[in-house]
Amino acid sequence: MHKVLNYIGGELVEPNAHKWLDKPEPATAEVYAHVPDSDETDVWRAVEAAHRAFPSWSATPAADRSRMVRRIADAIRARLEEFARAESIDTGKPLSVASTVDIPRSILNFDFFADAVTQFSSEAHATDSVALNYTLRSPLGVVGCISPWNLPLYLLTWKLAPALVMGNCVVAKPSEVTPMTAFLLAQVCREVGLPPGVLNIVHGLGPKVGAAMSRHPEVRAISFTGSTRVGAEIARTAAPLFKKISLEMGGKNPNVIFADCDFDEALATTVRSSFANQGQICLCGPRIFVQNSIYERFKEALVARTRALKVGDPLDPKTEQGALVSHQHFDKVMSYIEIARKEGGRILTGGAPAKLEGRCRNGWFVEPTLVEGLGPECRTNQEEIFGPVATLTAFEHEDEVLAWANSTNYGLAASVWTKDLSRAHRFAAQLHSGIVWVNCWMLRDLRTPFGGVKDSGVGREGGLDALRFFTEPKNVCIKL
Ligand code: NAD
Repeated sequence: MHKVLNYIGGELVEPNAHKWLDKPEPATAEVYAHVPDSDETDVWRAVEAAHRAFPSWSATPAADRSRMVRRIADAIRARLEEFARAESIDTGKPLSVASTVDIPRSILNFDFFADAVTQFSSEAHATDSVALNYTLRSPLGVVGCISPWNLPLYLLTWKLAPALVMGNCVVAKPSEVTPMTAFLLAQVCREVGLPPGVLNIVHGLGPKVGAAMSRHPEVRAISFTGSTRVGAEIARTAAPLFKKISLEMGGKNPNVIFADCDFDEALATTVRSSFANQGQICLCGPRIFVQNSIYERFKEALVARTRALKVGDPLDPKTEQGALVSHQHFDKVMSYIEIARKEGGRILTGGAPAKLEGRCRNGWFVEPTLVEGLGPECRTNQEEIFGPVATLTAFEHEDEVLAWANSTNYGLAASVWTKDLSRAHRFAAQLHSGIVWVNCWMLRDLRTPFGGVKDSGVGREGGLDALRFFTEPKNVCIKL
């Protein structure tokens, strides 16, 4: 049995109250680790440690902070297979995905921000010949980073890395559902000699640990990725304390396929954008709209490709679809398949738990599922399912599909497939979405702003925006 420990003041420590949570492996449903069930006192200790470390870390030259963060990247790179295996066992995602996507991209987060801080510049504005303004940007102090389970190391490091390079000290709370890679990260930080207290990781439940971070007066910012419901709760707690907040939340993204698209590319990418990581990526596009004239052909091909996806043991290199992350999430996804049926949806493929033999016979596997015949306003098409369930809807006109694409409360990401350049630009500009992909999906340049509109997020992160988020600006105005 593995035992995950908190990382506070440079030490790996048990939770103050010595309470533990069971951590099952999604592919087998068997408990394989105990995770700290930390409480407010652990958060206080972590904030104290971060507070003590702040004067020295914030005074460390940016180039030295950059070198330290790069050392973390290099140490993870050296243990890539160990991290990938831990992530696969922890989340149920295929090992092939963890080792080629999640862990390399986590390393890239550290590398990217280690570079970015050395290139960071602040603003200066000359007011004619009257005055010269320049902006000093100092680190905030102790900041809180709260992350979800679907890309556990990637999304955690996306926050930690910019916070650290800018001179902040961090209290981080990974999802209690997937703690293992954060625990490995703590070990790496000790190995490379990150000064004690610069990064602290407190494991445990959101309402205990995350809520204590959100209301702690010394925590000057909360950077959160997770559900819209919890994001709203954090905003309610943190706003009266005037903390900076960045909220990256849910999505229900449209994938709009016009008849003039590159059919094969649109098809292959739609399989990925619907089912990658078992549909548990906030950027997945589970609402698929296909123009009438190619609808039947596209549907037939998509159903065939979806049926061919190999659901299996996440540790098997041939597996394309692993397990859902938890029993609770499995139940949620299955309940939405039931809702889709009740709303009159026709299940084209899938629609049931996937039954596996051997080691994985009790795991939380769901067949990749395609549903048609549902209106854009029904619950299946409005609420975030966050699993391997996508709907197919035919459309005739651009205006009609634009209205449907924009009809949810979410606005995280969207995909558009067309060879008509004018339409691509026109359509992209009108979508209510933080990111629009034209003829692609999940391509990212880390320098661009990242995040959603409407109920999907506020306080964009990404590239230079993330570096700025973790600073307090001060304008100095000099009369000339
Ligand atoms: P969640 O909101 O349940 O949990 C996210 C984190 O918040 C966890 O660490 C959890 O313990 C913590 N938390 C829970 N209650 C809290 C509280 N009261 N105060 C403070 N922290 C609390 O989300 P999840 O189920 O872990 O992740 C799935 C969700 O994340 C989906 O909605 C998905 O769309 C979203 N997501 C968004 C993005 C994005 O970039 N927009 C990326 C990945 C996932």
